[in-house]
Amino acid sequence: MQITDVQVIVTCPGRNYVFVKVFTDVAGLYGVGEGTLSGSEPIVAEAIRHITPLLLGRDPQQIEDLWHLVYRQGYWRGGPIFMAALAAIDIALWDIKGKQAGLPVYQLLGGKARDGVMCYSHAHGRDPVECEDSARHLIEQGFRVVRCQVGDYGGAGNLGALPPITPGTPETRIYEPTPYLLSVPALFAHLREQLGPEIELMHDVHEQLQPIEAVRLVKALEPFRLFFLEDPLMPEQREAWPLLRAASATPLAIGEILTSRWDCLPLFVNRWIDFIRIKPLHVGGLTEARKILVLAEPYNVRSAFHGAADIGPVAQAASVALQMVIPNFGVQEWTRYPDPVYEVVSGICRMERGFLYPNEAPGLGVDVDMEKAAQYPYQRAYMPLARRADGSMHVY
Ligand code: MG
Repeated sequence: MQITDVQVIVTCPGRNYVFVKVFTDVAGLYGVGEGTLSGSEPIVAEAIRHITPLLLGRDPQQIEDLWHLVYRQGYWRGGPIFMAALAAIDIALWDIKGKQAGLPVYQLLGGKARDGVMCYSHAHGRDPVECEDSARHLIEQGFRVVRCQVGDYGGAGNLGALPPITPGTPETRIYEPTPYLLSVPALFAHLREQLGPEIELMHDVHEQLQPIEAVRLVKALEPFRLFFLEDPLMPEQREAWPLLRAASATPLAIGEILTSRWDCLPLFVNRWIDFIRIKPLHVGGLTEARKILVLAEPYNVRSAFHGAADIGPVAQAASVALQMVIPNFGVQEWTRYPDPVYEVVSGICRMERGFLYPNEAPGLGVDVDMEKAAQYPYQRAYMPLARRADGSMHVY
């Protein structure tokens, strides 16, 4: 069997996605993949186009070999752009293998270890009462784990915004840590009082804090028994994780911007985290994500795959396939896609009472209608910008 063509499309059915189709010389046999990287979609698409000639004529059944070919071809290996491009190809190759075998991908990976993939979704509001209402709505829909935020990332620390300098670029959020740090424990005190002790609650710091501020926060949140605290630090501050560990028993999650097993391994072996937020889409696909979760297992680190709507439905199907199988599954993030996504992509994993279920069709069971996708052309978009009140640059 040979790869005969790789088609890539950047489409915007409500938000931008990068989808690929890898075609073979077997009539009707192709694989669907995804390389979406929010704010950098056209760059990943160009990387895939650049890599394509290296793949033509090769055997799509040799997934492990092709993974290493794409990973090593550039010498400048790794990083989010190339690993998303590699993921798009790798996910499509697993889809081909499933279709060839007549089996869903989760069967190829070892078969079901659970009935469905438990998900959390996002409760938010302008204040704790609105956030409580939003959480109650999700609990009524069947969610057992709820992420709770007031306002955008940085919450009460957001003091306003500067307008864009150039039209079509983002405004700049103004952020200060102290009001944020004071508001988060107050939010969870309210939620625990109103929602009771049992519902699983969590919060995403989104890297907004300095290490010692994060230490204060994990200590302050300990009485509220979070399911986990997400991204209390930038991953660049890895050596500060022992401080968080020593400070409290609040479970910790990180990893949505990590791209390789080498990023993840020190977090596991040092037992600095409880949940790893990688997903196949940004680590080079199912081949690498599976290895990372195998590395995590003996260190009791469970999956908490990043999975809001910026992780498109093809990548989501790959995440679900893997998490149906692994023994160290924790939870999967989920939000609903914009409505036009359901026109462009068929076979999207079924959400029911807070659980995602894989499509039972051979491969990943999802397909992208390239003509429909072309009706929603790419819309230039950037990630948000943030500065401190004194004008210095801050992380999003
Ligand atoms: Mg996050």
